[in-house]
Amino acid sequence: MSDEKQCEERQTPAAAGGEVTMDKIVSLCKRRGLIFPSSEIYGGLGSTWDYGPLGVELKNNVKRAWWQSVVYERDDMEGLDAAILMHPRVWEASGHVESFTDPLVDCKECKKRFRADHLTTERCPECGGELTEARQFNLMFRTHIGPVEDSASVVYLRPETAQGIFVNFENVRESMRRKLPFGIAQIGKAFRNEITPGNFTFRTREFEQMEIEYFVKPGEDETWYDYWVQERFAWYQRYGIRAGKLRLRPHAKDELAHYARACVDIEYLFPMGWSELEGIANRTDYDLRRHSEFSGKDLTYFDETDRTRYLPYVIEPSAGADRATLAFLIDAYREDVVAGRERVYLALHPALAPIKAAVLPLLRNRPEVVEMARRLHAGLRRRWKTIYTDTAGIGRLYRRQDEVGTPFCITVDVQSLEDRQVTVRHRDTTLQDRIPLDRVEAYIEEKLESA
Ligand code: ATP
Repeated sequence: MSDEKQCEERQTPAAAGGEVTMDKIVSLCKRRGLIFPSSEIYGGLGSTWDYGPLGVELKNNVKRAWWQSVVYERDDMEGLDAAILMHPRVWEASGHVESFTDPLVDCKECKKRFRADHLTTERCPECGGELTEARQFNLMFRTHIGPVEDSASVVYLRPETAQGIFVNFENVRESMRRKLPFGIAQIGKAFRNEITPGNFTFRTREFEQMEIEYFVKPGEDETWYDYWVQERFAWYQRYGIRAGKLRLRPHAKDELAHYARACVDIEYLFPMGWSELEGIANRTDYDLRRHSEFSGKDLTYFDETDRTRYLPYVIEPSAGADRATLAFLIDAYREDVVAGRERVYLALHPALAPIKAAVLPLLRNRPEVVEMARRLHAGLRRRWKTIYTDTAGIGRLYRRQDEVGTPFCITVDVQSLEDRQVTVRHRDTTLQDRIPLDRVEAYIEEKLESA
């Protein structure tokens, strides 16, 4: 298809080493409209972040890629979007009112606050001062429904999306005529009054989860648990995370919640070390049993295959949309030298890239070239997030697109007016293909599909 291949002179800088730090990521995100500190003109609100014009595209693409693989590509899954505010009894049944707590300690000297279970020393890690005894702190945000702030009006901002799925188990099963095994997937905001948020968007008090509850017959739970661990581990690699940066960390017996039969974390090697991206747990029938007891509704399932009635077991793959987005960003961050100048680029999977293609007229004062480029862009934008830009020289425009991970830059030049061909430049290699104008849409589609 291509009749020309050339690229800018390219080398990996030995000195820069391409090492990615959180500071580099935070600064790139701010500079290029991916993620901003929240309420910044008021000095910010600690550890809250806003996704900017390109960040919202990236995060939406991450959520879409998840939904694509766990809902659209399967026969055994339904979607759901439950309310954030739920009946307060939900959180009694789930155990959150009683035990969704973290042990909190304060430093008597510098007054800093820490999660006791995150400390590796007996004294303050900041100043070496003496710490207070640990006390339990409930992580749920409380608020009130209606004008009277009494105990009867207390509601919580959900600390996880999972409970919205459990309380809708019967609604979904019945309305969609589902038989076991089947799952329900949901993406939505969750809130936790974290004691020590930080590491950019890794731990915040408001975040988004992508959760699945997969309902199975007791006895088949271990097989399904293993299946989901493999499936979810593979998903991160499918969308570009390098295998060497991912690992599974099974929970030790004393780490397991009392109702969980098994739990494993998928961890990513973030700049601050191996940290959890997603947890996958075998929760047995704990959730449906508790909701049956607290609501008085029978949530058992009648299995027609052997005419038995039982409470389904649940396998829960629970991921964070913000953490996944951060991991994809960090893993894609690259530095090299092109044409003698240092370059930063994001080698994002094309499906995740905020902008799929940029159309650039090589000569912005030639109306026919501009017209052809604009027309090309008008066609592409109906399918994908693409941009038309002519605000700088071509070299600088390429750099700007590289830095936000745009996989294809398409240039229209004077020659294009004669041969009706354009140049497609590839982000990672800087290689260029010359292709017919009317093939551009199919070309991008093929590349997106085959990536
Ligand atoms: P951690 O041990 O990091 O506090 P957790 O084990 O409490 O996390 P889960 O309750 O299993 O987390 O939540 C499932 C997923 O939700 C996590 O794997 C993570 O991706 C995401 N998540 C949880 N808490 C936060 C947070 N404060 N900020 C951003 N994402 C979060």
